[in-house]
Amino acid sequence: MTTLLYTHPACLEHDPGPYHPESPARLRAVLAALEAPEFARLERREAPEAARDDIARVHPRRFIERMLAAVPASGHAGIDADTVLSPQSGRAALRAAGAVVAAIDAVMAGEAGSAFCAVRPPGHHAEPGRAMGFCLFNNVAIGALRAREAHGLARVAVVDFDVHHGNGTQARFCDDASLFYASTHQFPLYPGTGAASETGVGNIVNVPLPPMAGSRQFRLGFSREILPALDAFRPEMVLISAGFDAHRSDPLAQLLLDESDYTWATEELVALARNHAGGRVVSTLEGGYDLAALGASAAAHVRVLMSAG
Ligand SMILES: [Zn+2]
Repeated sequence: MTTLLYTHPACLEHDPGPYHPESPARLRAVLAALEAPEFARLERREAPEAARDDIARVHPRRFIERMLAAVPASGHAGIDADTVLSPQSGRAALRAAGAVVAAIDAVMAGEAGSAFCAVRPPGHHAEPGRAMGFCLFNNVAIGALRAREAHGLARVAVVDFDVHHGNGTQARFCDDASLFYASTHQFPLYPGTGAASETGVGNIVNVPLPPMAGSRQFRLGFSREILPALDAFRPEMVLISAGFDAHRSDPLAQLLLDESDYTWATEELVALARNHAGGRVVSTLEGGYDLAALGASAAAHVRVLMSAG
């Protein structure tokens, strides 16, 4: 089966400013890494803009319009201290969410076994009524709800190995037993949520890791906490919030993972998807702020998605 790569030039034009870590150079690093010959058989597709109806399964319509109206005609507009809009940010955010929706549709249609969405702005901090943490719309949650509402899936899971807790995804999922969210993240760290005691209606699994935790603690937590719960949930689709900022080189946090950990985690998720979800995996880029580590880690991740196909 094919693996799809969704992206769009608009995602390179969202520019929160010269000193902001969530820079266009991040996506350029990911796309450059995926230009290597081994990725030639990735099927590249242009991400469409998400429809308002798809975004509205996660965010109130007045919030969507408020975000798009906040986009400045020139210069920058701050939503909060971290989350800054430039003139192309609205289009980028619509393409980022649209990438995940299109990837879900293509994988559900059997056009591919898996897909990776190389997009920005990221999404997992965006709560239903609040943009924050570099995120405008919650791309992965919008994709999960698309899978459930448009394709009739009964159980959809998101696994998030970004170094930060996906508070936005958890906020949307936590009272809905047909959705499952699991996260490994450094704790304490921004945004402050993600304690192990946050379990939703039994559908949330948080694995907080202390600063300086590395491969062993990450894999133990993933194996002992997340994989058994995910196996019991029996997802019909596995979505991945693929942030690579738990890498040891990353400047925003203090976990000590490397590319081999992303290979390992992706292999485990692919195997689980094969058992329960017909192999259906849709992954989307979240964080990752050391450009070399980000490119190499995204390549390691996509390499496994392709080998599963
Ligand atoms: Zn992050």
